[in-house]
Amino acid sequence: MKNIIEYWLEKHFFHSRETPEILALKKRFLHSVVPGIPKMVLLGLLLWVLKLPTLAKGVWIFSGVELTIIIAFILLHQHVKFFTIINQYFFVLFSFIGVLYFGGILHSGGIVLVGLAGVLQSLYFLKLNQVRYIFAFYLITVIIEALLQPFLTPVPEITPTVNLVFFVLHLIVVTYNLYIRLSFYINQNIQIRKLETQKLKELDTLKTNFYTNITHEFRTPLTVILGMTNQIRSNPGKYIEKGVHLIRKNGFQLLHLVNQMLDLSKLEAKSMQVNLIQQDIIPFVRQTIEPFSYLSKEKNVAFYFHTDLEELWMDFDSEKMESLIGNLLTNAIKYSPSGASIHFDVSEYSNHKFENITGFSPLQGNYICAENGLKLTIRDTGQGISENELPLIFNRYYQVEKKNLPHREGSGIGLLLVKEIVQLLNGNLFVESEPGKGTKFSVFLPITNETGKTFIHEKDSEFELIESIPHVDKVDSGQLNKNLPSLLIIEDNDDVVTYLRSIVETTYQVNRAKNGEEGIEMTLELIPDIILSDV
Ligand code: ADP
Repeated sequence: MKNIIEYWLEKHFFHSRETPEILALKKRFLHSVVPGIPKMVLLGLLLWVLKLPTLAKGVWIFSGVELTIIIAFILLHQHVKFFTIINQYFFVLFSFIGVLYFGGILHSGGIVLVGLAGVLQSLYFLKLNQVRYIFAFYLITVIIEALLQPFLTPVPEITPTVNLVFFVLHLIVVTYNLYIRLSFYINQNIQIRKLETQKLKELDTLKTNFYTNITHEFRTPLTVILGMTNQIRSNPGKYIEKGVHLIRKNGFQLLHLVNQMLDLSKLEAKSMQVNLIQQDIIPFVRQTIEPFSYLSKEKNVAFYFHTDLEELWMDFDSEKMESLIGNLLTNAIKYSPSGASIHFDVSEYSNHKFENITGFSPLQGNYICAENGLKLTIRDTGQGISENELPLIFNRYYQVEKKNLPHREGSGIGLLLVKEIVQLLNGNLFVESEPGKGTKFSVFLPITNETGKTFIHEKDSEFELIESIPHVDKVDSGQLNKNLPSLLIIEDNDDVVTYLRSIVETTYQVNRAKNGEEGIEMTLELIPDIILSDV
């Protein structure tokens, strides 16, 4: 029977669209009021049998009003806060009328304590300031009862024995109530503290990871920059061209990283502003993606750009747009192996129904985007992301765990920035992914034409100069001098390898492996004299 009632309540009464707090309050209210009603009715019967009809009627009136409140609440399905307040004030009011009726505080069998039970019970349902009002109301009724005492006449039915028995019973019920509420409170506080500590610990670990990763992200380009300047100094003729390119590329990488961190702190301080200018977005996008087509070529990842639009004039913030596209393309390249491909599509959408999209949106639920606008799709055939990690990748510092990697590449803030920028631009963002198959990010942005038109000119971009980087020398074992001792470099970063090779290429036959697994294979195959690798 209990299960049937619970099932019915779950199905008809506790709606999943309600907030967890309201759901919990509804349950608590029903669970603490409903079981009391039949007990009270039975108690009334017992009192009737014991020839205490006035007390019996009192108990029945009490349970009748409680039943009415509960029925009204169940019929209405909502306003649980209102009903809990009504219920608790009713306790106090009932106690007040009961005390006056039965002849004052000292002659009414402890009915005064019913009001106190109401106050204590309200701790279970209401906010502290609401409890304060009920408590104040209760105190006022008690003072009035005391003041009216000389004018009250005790009811004959309440003999000293009945008075004593009922006082003790009321006291037991109220102290039991107090015990239950207090233990509920203490338990709740312990749970909250535990959760808070756990959250702080998690944040702390994430921050430590972030600092470790970010230090690595800074150290690698700095090593290349400082090392290459030494090489240029020692042999300018040989290294000037390659060295300058590597220095510029790594310098821009550092700048990009610093800009990301600045953007993040601006977002945290809620001081990120949108500077809209009306431009033709198509040439802008073409310029923005150009450096990435070079970067993907370096990694042997095919890069395709596609749009049917010859021009599209709209208001947009070029810096934000660049950061948005840049972060998504950087990830697509970073998380795609050699041989994969990336497709970047730009189109206009109209009458779009966001409810129908299958992917995950970090902005869905609280966010609705215009039905017409600009759609950017970045699809890669890279490593993909598992379904349970999709909601997490937009969190600050979050990075998907990777096996076989001593440190994680990246900082874990790129997608957070993407999400925040899309939200700032009143757009929406969806991601679909399948591990091993690839990932697709779709960005929807509303189109407005409210600012003055500006014609696009040469762009001053943080990525701009990366495009002229010559390809990193691939190790060509055919050119190796077989008389030199052999050296195997195990390193994933191409620029670091170029720099290291420039130092050792005249004294060693250099081979290179991209990761630990490849390193072990090549070691067994080549049996090098020296292996150079960071841990
Ligand atoms: P990171 O600096 O680590 O790249 P991001 O916030 O940009 O930080 O991305 C968070 C995580 O999401 C990454 O660590 C990566 O595991 C995952 N991710 C993002 N984009 C892709 C993608 N295109 N393919 C596979 N995984 C991705």
